[in-house]
Amino acid sequence: MGLLDGRKGIIFGVANEKSIAWAIAQKLHKEGAELAFTYAGEALEKRVRPLADSLGAKLILPCDVTKDDQIQAVFDQIRSAFGHLDILVHAIAYANKEDLKTDFLSTSRDGFRLAQDVSAYSLTALARHAAPLMEGRPASILTLTYYGAEKVVPRYNVMGVAKAALEASVRYLAADLGPKGIRVNAISAGPIRTLASAGISGFLDMLHHVEVKAPLRRNISAEEVAGTALYLASDLASGVTGEVIYVDAGYHIMGM
Ligand code: NAP
Repeated sequence: MGLLDGRKGIIFGVANEKSIAWAIAQKLHKEGAELAFTYAGEALEKRVRPLADSLGAKLILPCDVTKDDQIQAVFDQIRSAFGHLDILVHAIAYANKEDLKTDFLSTSRDGFRLAQDVSAYSLTALARHAAPLMEGRPASILTLTYYGAEKVVPRYNVMGVAKAALEASVRYLAADLGPKGIRVNAISAGPIRTLASAGISGFLDMLHHVEVKAPLRRNISAEEVAGTALYLASDLASGVTGEVIYVDAGYHIMGM
């Protein structure tokens, strides 16, 4: 018997087999969840479809989260195929590469707006559509954040500010949706090599820094993030909402 037997979930943010969302999907599927997947563009569909197929997914849908009509279409299809929803995984972020190279001061209005729209606002947009399908169920919404939301991490810049908005959104959404029984939480993951992290200048320095400074003296894996995602998605975390849980080898507790 799995922890998520009979549960229905949707995963936003699988780009390839290195994606944190993919590690989470595998873990949730192993515990019995039936999953739907989305992809951001045609190029991505080629990579996401075989992965989703390998978990027996029936719904593999296009969704650029900056497009309200695409979000609406996804949840219309979820309603007709699943009837309800128990789990939503939001593992999406984007900023212009040039905004992750120099300093925060140089961030353009458009770059700021784009990072906020894709990386922060999208959680609220998805949660609003998901809520009617989740109401009255033991439902869980979870997102991925990073320490750069709270402290200055060189070159994380506009993404740090977007993650700060995302973490605040988690708290406000948890307060709005709690009375309906829907929990909303974030996992603050340590650095992991993925397509998205490859866009951050000096990412290898971040990995090295964690290895030297974190209490566990190592980096973390996507599978370890997935373990916490499973906890948050399941009834093991039935009393937990509005939280940011760290999976970072303890890095964030260090002062010096
Ligand atoms: P990833 O595999 O590149 O996943 C990022 C996903 O965001 C991709 O599937 C990407 O699709 C999607 N995305 C970007 N713009 C989108 C849009 N407009 N509409 C829909 N989807 C869009 O990288 P990842 O590292 O696993 O990232 C997943 C989450 O974890 C992100 O929120 C990231 O900030 C967070 N996180 C990552 C780390 C790390 O070190 N890797 C650490 C802490 C937190 P496209 O490829 O089509 O753009």
